[in-house]
Amino acid sequence: MSGDGGTPLAKILLVEDNEMNRDMLSRRLVRKGYEVVLACDGQAGVDMAAAEAPDLILMDMSLPALDGWEATRRLKAAPATRHVPVIALTAHAMSGDRDKALEAGCNDYDTKPIDLPRLLGKIESLLGPAATQKDPAPTRTE
Ligand code: MN
Repeated sequence: MSGDGGTPLAKILLVEDNEMNRDMLSRRLVRKGYEVVLACDGQAGVDMAAAEAPDLILMDMSLPALDGWEATRRLKAAPATRHVPVIALTAHAMSGDRDKALEAGCNDYDTKPIDLPRLLGKIESLLGPAATQKDPAPTRTE
């Protein structure tokens, strides 16, 4: 069923335990035209990924129940969810975190606080051109 705003660009599962971060990022993604489903911990994230079949997952790494690394390992081990791109989100720009996220199977990595244009760029490059907004026709200034 499509809403008044037309068909969403894609469905994104946001796994984030911090309520303020979750609300803010989900609102901004919805405003950009994405459908967003939410999970508050790693186990819920794994369950929601199987139930909702999202097109992409944004995974906080520091999560209760299962941390983001273990949740991603499980997602990437399950045939139903292993193809879904995962972008890891962490609060620290530590290089060890990045390597650990990629080793767990994350397809990309970004740090908080979220820089929305930068994150959208990563989302769009993983979803591919079919699932992203078309750029307006280029305007020539000459
Ligand atoms: Mn967290």
